[in-house]
Amino acid sequence: MSVSFEPDHAASWYAATANPAPERPALAGEVSCDVCVVGAGFTGISAALHLAERGFSVVVLEAVRVGYGASGRNGGQIVNSYSRDMDVIEEKYGADTARALGDMAFEGNRIIRERVERYAIDCDLRDGNLFAACNASQMRGLREHQALWERYGYRELELLDGEAVKREVDSERYTGALVDHGGGHLHPLNLVLGQAAAVESLGGRIYEYSPVTGVAHGEPVVVRTAGGRVRADRVVMAGNAYLKGVLPEIEGKSMPCGTQIITTEPLDEARARALIPNGLAVEDCNYLLDYYRLTRDNRLLYGGGVNYGGSDPADIESVIRPKMLTTFPSLDDVKVDYAWSGTFLMTLNRLPQFGVVNGNVYYAQGYSGHGVTCTHLAGRLIAEVMTGREERFDAFAGLPHLPFPGGRLLRVPLSAIGAWYYQTRDRLGI
Ligand SMILES: Cc1cc2nc3c(=O)[nH]c(=O)nc-3n(C[C@H](O)[C@H](O)[C@H](O)COP(=O)(O)OP(=O)(O)OC[C@H]3O[C@@H](n4cnc5c(N)ncnc54)[C@H](O)[C@@H]3O)c2cc1C
Repeated sequence: MSVSFEPDHAASWYAATANPAPERPALAGEVSCDVCVVGAGFTGISAALHLAERGFSVVVLEAVRVGYGASGRNGGQIVNSYSRDMDVIEEKYGADTARALGDMAFEGNRIIRERVERYAIDCDLRDGNLFAACNASQMRGLREHQALWERYGYRELELLDGEAVKREVDSERYTGALVDHGGGHLHPLNLVLGQAAAVESLGGRIYEYSPVTGVAHGEPVVVRTAGGRVRADRVVMAGNAYLKGVLPEIEGKSMPCGTQIITTEPLDEARARALIPNGLAVEDCNYLLDYYRLTRDNRLLYGGGVNYGGSDPADIESVIRPKMLTTFPSLDDVKVDYAWSGTFLMTLNRLPQFGVVNGNVYYAQGYSGHGVTCTHLAGRLIAEVMTGREERFDAFAGLPHLPFPGGRLLRVPLSAIGAWYYQTRDRLGI
């Protein structure tokens, strides 16, 4: 295995404000369990928790720290549904598939809220997120979006015109918006840490600093690390974009993508409230979108950009700060305290990849930039399929996935060309 992991969390505002958590030991020697989970992000920890709640003995192996990957670094935006919505699913894969996925499109959000409540997780959970339109074409898209979600029974949406959106976001960029009162935002690292503690409270074992180097298929499956091995009846692969070279069967039809976030110094209360008076999380509708929100200590946490292939820009602040100033020119004098990068996993059709290899190695990955809610759903569906309820997991597992055009060598430049095309359309408002 050739991946190099950093020794600890990225130097993010999240890591700086994480709730106290134990440092878990690396795996040493051999252990056995019902289910071994590889990767302690939302997917892995959600699966481990659903399984532990159902009485399975669970071992989680994490290469670095719980929440080290995208789950501990993301925008924290609780966005409902999937990266591609039910209209696209209907068109490409038919009404039955769209109905099956549509029935689950708001469930991940509910799971998060249940977890926060049941396990008293302190993670700054706040209600409401807003999709901002930068032109008339995007506004038409938002109207259709509202109609679509309402067709699937979701009634928490409110359309805002150009005047109304200014009451939510103090920016000249937007022609309107769609508010999802049922969405929201939170401190993602604290959410995953809280759920990891819940796994352990139910008897689950979590090993940190334990990168998995190989999986030997069989019954049991043997999962190897440098210091030990786990013999498990079943395995959940939840390494997402950070899993490289461990299970080639699931790594060919996706592409790691980097995206960056900065966080300002704390603003005084009045200045922060003037930017986003009702504290909503915001993402715009551009192909390469900007996403931002206020933190509990009145910083602006602002993300954007995509680097296909997952490489980091040399100077993150110089890439993201101009985006922030385009939205909020008044922040010109404000210092940036934190800047970091994270990697998510993109699929060609932007829908997640679920499946099983060799009958007992399950996986869920590739949420394509919107994974806070779907990862939580994935954990439940993995637990369901392991307890004999297959149909909901299979609705995802049945989605066809193709490799990116150009293969490993050309997929990055070809995707960049595609993104340039869509970015130009966004700029032209078409
Ligand atoms: C900067 C950024 C901002 C984002 N913002 C949002 C947002 O606001 N809203 C939203 O919905 N989505 C957002 N996303 C996407 C979302 O964060 C991801 O879809 C989601 O967190 C994926 O969770 P995961 O558990 O599948 O993967 P990850 O969180 O990446 O976890 C994978 C874990 O597996 C571990 N691992 C990998 N390989 C091995 C191995 N060999 N052995 C042991 N462990 C291993 C890694 O160390 C890591 O901890 C964002 C992503 C990024 C990067």
